[in-house]
Amino acid sequence: MRTKEFLKFFQKLVPIDLLYLLQNIHSNLLFRWILLKGSEPITFSKKSAIVFSPHQDDETFGCGGMIALKREHGIPVTVAFLTDGQSSHGPDSQIKEKIIQIRKQEAVEALEILGVETSKIHFLEKPDGSLQDLQKEQREQTIQQLAELIKSYQPEEVYVPHKKDCHKDHEATYELVKEAIAQVGIEVELLQYPIWLFWRAPLFIMLKVQDIAAAYRLSIESVQDKKTRRSLLLFSA
Ligand SMILES: [Zn+2]
Repeated sequence: MRTKEFLKFFQKLVPIDLLYLLQNIHSNLLFRWILLKGSEPITFSKKSAIVFSPHQDDETFGCGGMIALKREHGIPVTVAFLTDGQSSHGPDSQIKEKIIQIRKQEAVEALEILGVETSKIHFLEKPDGSLQDLQKEQREQTIQQLAELIKSYQPEEVYVPHKKDCHKDHEATYELVKEAIAQVGIEVELLQYPIWLFWRAPLFIMLKVQDIAAAYRLSIESVQDKKTRRSLLLFSA
């Protein structure tokens, strides 16, 4: 039985509340283990960076502390959002246009708190939820746009969601950015940040050890307040 079929079978057998509870316990244990034992501490790097974020919040939840730390040291950080974020309130929302505008504005205000100038924020505005299913031409155009950003900023580090982040847009962002880097042909350090990796069910059979083997942790204590302020800002909408 393949993994996805097994998951469906398992989900039918177990009541949903119990499934969530198991998922929560498992995620917490895995997250704590990675943070305390399964990762190497790294020192703060003064390399310039570009963060590719599928939606208007992933950049902060995933690497907001790093962004704030770099900006406090005057290091260039660019943030590019791939989708317009229209599906945050469900696929049938009647206020999609309003959501797009609000999320855009929030992203700019929030990144200001983290120290990123408006001129360094880019919105590619692909439809939320579409990145994995782009038609050939749209896909190539998106890779081209990403490549142009990489070419013009020449970052030393590139941040993307984890390749197994359990969300179609997040996993697609990893793939698209990887192709764009190959197209530009520059040497960059590609770093993956987790958003859903630990929290979507049930990872114990979906993750392989090598997927989480090379993990690093960076202390963001000195800028935690900025990251929290940004997070609260997003929740308030
Ligand atoms: Zn997201």
